[in-house]
Amino acid sequence: MIAVFDIQHFGQKGKHIDSRGAGADLDGDGKIETWEREAELTPFYASSASLFLAAAGIPCAFMPMQFSSYEERAEEMVRLQKRANERVVVILCHLNAGGGADDYALTLFHDQRRGDEPLARAIADEMLSLVEINRSVCLAAEAAPHWTSRARYCLEAYAKAPKEVTAVLVEPWFLTTKDHQSLAGGDGPVRVGHAIARAIISEL
Ligand SMILES: [Zn+2]
Repeated sequence: MIAVFDIQHFGQKGKHIDSRGAGADLDGDGKIETWEREAELTPFYASSASLFLAAAGIPCAFMPMQFSSYEERAEEMVRLQKRANERVVVILCHLNAGGGADDYALTLFHDQRRGDEPLARAIADEMLSLVEINRSVCLAAEAAPHWTSRARYCLEAYAKAPKEVTAVLVEPWFLTTKDHQSLAGGDGPVRVGHAIARAIISEL
């Protein structure tokens, strides 16, 4: 197995070059700075996850396809799977933003790819080990007008990938939820990364 972490909001082709995804005023100084944005915070939990996986003997990589489209990234993962002749697990890394009262972690898989569901469920279960997370929701991402269609858009490039490629989208916590914000710093990203890594290891 090879695990690949895709910092989805960084360097999306077609988007503004400094697109960084969602943000929140984490330090309360009245402005949303670069470090308080989704694409700047997701690498901390992703790199923690990759360190735990590497220690367990699982090769890891970050998506080497910045400034590319989601389709090009998925095509590269299919090529990697063929080249390595190993299962490739792709974690689409996000952080959520909402109205401030959201108390859950969210994990999604493409509704046409039920083979990806067990890993998504395993990650969702592991998120409950975080003291900040009261609820953990695992959903099949459905087409519009369903509210999960935005996540499905991110997963769509994997719809026709071989079953040896697993794609799961994670939104471990809400930037906009006060009780979740301790996951931004200190050992927060390490705990989030460890939860994701344990779920991937449980799939071996
Ligand atoms: Zn996102």
